[in-house]
Amino acid sequence: MSLIYNIKEKASRDINLANFMPSVLQRLVVLGGGESGTGAAVLAKKKGFDVFLSDSLEIKPKYKEVLDIYGIEYEENQHTEALILNANEVVKSPGIPDKAPVVKKLREQATPIISEIEFAGRYTSAKKICITGSNGKTTTTMLTFHILKNAGLNVGLAGNVGESFALQVAENDRDYYVIELSSFQLDGMYDFKADIAVLLNITPDHLDRYNYEFQNYVDSKMRILQNQTSADAFIYWAGDAVITRELEKLKPAVTLYPFDKQKAEGLAAYTEEKQLVIKTKKGEFTMEEELVALTGTHNLYNSLAAGIASHLLDIHNDDIRRSMSDFKGVEHRLEKVARVRGVEYINDSKATNVNSTWYALESMKTPAVLILGGTDKGNDYSEIESLVQAKCRALIYLGKDNTKLHQFFDGKVMITCDTRSMQDAVSKAYEIAREGDTVLLSPCCASFDLFQNYEDRGKQFKDCVRRL
Ligand code: ADP
Repeated sequence: MSLIYNIKEKASRDINLANFMPSVLQRLVVLGGGESGTGAAVLAKKKGFDVFLSDSLEIKPKYKEVLDIYGIEYEENQHTEALILNANEVVKSPGIPDKAPVVKKLREQATPIISEIEFAGRYTSAKKICITGSNGKTTTTMLTFHILKNAGLNVGLAGNVGESFALQVAENDRDYYVIELSSFQLDGMYDFKADIAVLLNITPDHLDRYNYEFQNYVDSKMRILQNQTSADAFIYWAGDAVITRELEKLKPAVTLYPFDKQKAEGLAAYTEEKQLVIKTKKGEFTMEEELVALTGTHNLYNSLAAGIASHLLDIHNDDIRRSMSDFKGVEHRLEKVARVRGVEYINDSKATNVNSTWYALESMKTPAVLILGGTDKGNDYSEIESLVQAKCRALIYLGKDNTKLHQFFDGKVMITCDTRSMQDAVSKAYEIAREGDTVLLSPCCASFDLFQNYEDRGKQFKDCVRRL
């Protein structure tokens, strides 16, 4: 049951705010009325701030209802500067860029701007496991949460997934939180400290928000380390040259837990003779690789990271093994949809960049019919060229404009074809695939040319497959 539903249920008995009122009312303005903004506003109200929430777009009815219940003042479809620039502090939704005029003005007058995670972190003493990286955040966050929850811990799921951290702190504080952090959230974090931080990888992404300077994005990701001490843990992929270079530069005081695929000196987790091995000061964990539910090299990294974090939290080895083997995965990430006439159909619609598709192809154990295409974000397809040639029986282009795909791949793979709808793409795949093959939707591209978002694209794929 959702927290918002709970709030409606107990609204009448819960709103005795008078006890929290500080002597001098601090004005806290929240920019953005989505999940995180609404949560931050509720927490702020409960802590006695003078709260105002402003959204330049329409606010969803479910969030307005919560704001009304708490008597929180808000506006939508506009930012009224007179009501915003007088804030003592601002909580900004990660979706609002720094170039937004109201944000620029706040910065000019040096008003502190923080993220919802920073704000909520002030009001909980829970242990926080924070996960970031360019790829694999959601999978690793969900797996870690699954392990902790199944082991009986009182744990919340927050950040980019689940309900807002602030709302949980306000309504139903936990002993542990597993928090997925984007670089935008990290940008608004200053005093917050992760007890366990996970950094999966850093590859160029969102550069439009970082002045087209990769280093700015890297600096933002490395903020996950800030304030950590030797009592805290930093888990990272040792095979990532950017992360290791940054660590040499920063020399953080934190205790390091590097992981990689193959055993090597100094690693806290790796594979050896088809076993996953994790070694920390808490002892040793092993598990047969074959029993791990998530497949593919990228997911091995995600599993090793989640495994180290869980091990450090004293979860019993048997509990970690059980949860690693019965984890169902996350929708739209290498999600098995169905087997139709001996052909496996896999939905990897979340693969919106070349790097993600590289890992999806690498995990293929059978010939593949790959459906790819969409809104190209400046893709360099040479990164997947040899894998495509080694693994793909056919390529089905699915996009409004497939010119770049034709130019790059035609002639390099036996069969290529052009489609403009999911129905057409799945029908073509069905005609081409042979028994024992896999039909893989792993588009390399954003979805906005033909679909609302990657979820819509994945759902349409699954619907079409189920109708075969
Ligand atoms: P994020 O939340 O960071 O976007 P997800 O867990 O949603 O990551 O996975 C998105 C896509 O990235 C998946 O479809 C998968 O193909 C790819 N991926 C997942 N984990 C990794 C990883 N550790 N390294 C590289 N690619 C990955």
